[in-house]
Amino acid sequence: MIEPFLSAVPVLKKLEDAGFEAYFVGGSVRDYLLERRISDVDIATSATPDEVKEIFTKTVDIGIEHGTVLVIYRNRSYEVTTFRTEAEYKDFRRPKEVFFIRSLNEDLMRRDFTMNAIAMDNSGQIIDPFAGQTAIKEKIIRTVGNATDRFQEDALRMMRAVRFVSQLSFDMEENTKKALIELVPLLENIAIERKRVEFEKLLLGSNRKKAIRIMLETSLYAYLPSLKNNKDSLEEILSYELQDLAIHEMWSLLVFCLKYKGKQMETFLRNWRLPLKEIREIQLILFYLHKRLEQEWTVYDLYTSGSTIILSVEKLYQVLKGNKENETIQKWLNLYEDLPIKNRSEIDVNGVELMAWFNQKGGPWLKETLFTIEQAILDRKIVNDKRKIKEWLMECNQN
Ligand code: ATP
Ligand code: MG
Repeated sequence: MIEPFLSAVPVLKKLEDAGFEAYFVGGSVRDYLLERRISDVDIATSATPDEVKEIFTKTVDIGIEHGTVLVIYRNRSYEVTTFRTEAEYKDFRRPKEVFFIRSLNEDLMRRDFTMNAIAMDNSGQIIDPFAGQTAIKEKIIRTVGNATDRFQEDALRMMRAVRFVSQLSFDMEENTKKALIELVPLLENIAIERKRVEFEKLLLGSNRKKAIRIMLETSLYAYLPSLKNNKDSLEEILSYELQDLAIHEMWSLLVFCLKYKGKQMETFLRNWRLPLKEIREIQLILFYLHKRLEQEWTVYDLYTSGSTIILSVEKLYQVLKGNKENETIQKWLNLYEDLPIKNRSEIDVNGVELMAWFNQKGGPWLKETLFTIEQAILDRKIVNDKRKIKEWLMECNQN
């Protein structure tokens, strides 16, 4: 066994010492078998949430109704979820009621895909009742049980299938894909927030183009917020060589391909329920990207956008231009680094001093003067030094 499982073994042991069963499950076991980077280690147990809370001193209730307790153990946190079934599904969404059970097998049965329905015990022994390891070897995404039933129970699983295509470059097993094509309209019933989580994972996966092609082929895209009539834009994304882009850069590229600006862009991003802070960042990136496509950066634009926006804009510019040199990105970042000031507060004079120098009360002239000074410093007409600024202003005033 390897880290991070090794550190988590004592958590399993503590549950077992108290008379319960406990296993590693889900994505971490799958990624371990795939020799991929392992993210969170999730644990499944026969102990109920109350029983888990009695065993560990530090716990946080993060989803008691679904049977999940966050256990903090030696400064690491683990999601510990009680074995459960999800009996009745209403509206093709999450189960209406969750039943806690004492059997691992039944818990694995409720999981979405065979590759995600594998457990591992504290000695590294694999428990794999649905041949998940074979699926992993064959690089196949296959539902546990009948695909039609499983997608009807929870339509989000269809999006999860496609995002796993993107992350793992697996193919969908034939019946799984058939069921998806047939049932994809059920995605209408799924909360946008849940769709966004999967869509963002899809956008970041190393095989995102393969996933986007499947989205187009199966019409899945038509059941995502504001993408229904935008097949062409998704196809445009396929025409670019995508490099290592962060999520806000992928959103920006998507909006660019959609040709959305202004209000339309904002509505699109709000429809996807993106946090306002991210919306603002994407808007800035697109503002400067459109400008960049027409001309090179001006000193003032470098100054107002800042290094993170410059980097994102340049990365996207390169994608759009099919250019793989990082040289120009560095060139603009260097120019930014060399700016005499990075923001207004760095100007070596303030409003109070200006009022004293000119013996005038505050007013719009103050802001204008500061703006003039800022421009002059950026254009290197003057250096950012109180005495020099004063001399320059007095000189300007005489002319
Ligand atoms: P990631 O590496 O992105 O976290 P994951 O497979 O761990 O991938 P999670 O959303 O963390 O995905 O879910 C953990 C596990 O819970 C899955 O591996 C799967 O066994 C189960 N699971 C998650 N979502 C569903 C679902 N909608 N239906 C059935 N089982 C699910
Ligand atoms: Mg996970």
